[in-house]
Amino acid sequence: MLEQIKEELSLSQTTLVAVSKTKPQSAILEMYKKGQRIFGENRVPELVQKYENLPKDIQWHMIGKLQRNKVKHIVPFVKLIHSIDNIKLIFEIEKNAAKLNKNINGLLQFKIADENTKSGFEFDEALQFLKSNEFKKLNHLKFTGVMGMATFTSDENKVEEEFKTMFNYFSTLKEEIFFNNDKFKEISMGMSGDYKLAIKQGSTIVRIGSLLFGNP
Ligand SMILES: *Cc1c(COP(=O)(O)O)cnc(C)c1O
Repeated sequence: MLEQIKEELSLSQTTLVAVSKTKPQSAILEMYKKGQRIFGENRVPELVQKYENLPKDIQWHMIGKLQRNKVKHIVPFVKLIHSIDNIKLIFEIEKNAAKLNKNINGLLQFKIADENTKSGFEFDEALQFLKSNEFKKLNHLKFTGVMGMATFTSDENKVEEEFKTMFNYFSTLKEEIFFNNDKFKEISMGMSGDYKLAIKQGSTIVRIGSLLFGNP
């Protein structure tokens, strides 16, 4: 399955995050041996434990809801935080990165789905922040793009519309805020059920779990 998905993604040069949450370390190692290096987790304790036990050239991405009091545990090693969904979290990441004098890459998560369980910024809220002096105080947290999750539905038109919204958010931020910043280029959208639609709408990173690892 990994080979097949990688081949599909290579045409559009889309990055694959193998979502390994709840999966045993042996399953991650197996995929590692096939060449996969980027893995995504959604819980901090699990992420830290896997980081400690698995090969150090794995790039770990945090993709799940992140609580402020857990930020300090992942800042030393995390490669990309996808799920930055509020301003207090932004400053907590900045504070911890500053302490270690290192840069952290992050994505702004937007709410594009109907479901209330899926969190994220409202677009105007994020834009207002990015235009503020508060944003200019960030020296260690570097935004490299946006992230979103579509509604869980079989209605492909709806999912497609939500991905289009995501792309528009990205384009608008690129034009209005990040025009001078080459590093702001990522759109993280698409999971097992909808990654093909996501790629058509301009996704640069897909986060795929069950299709790769199988359902529990
Ligand atoms: C679990 C999860 C995924 C992967 O979902 P699958 O449907 O198993 O591919 C992607 N993104 C986030 C944020 C997740 O929590």
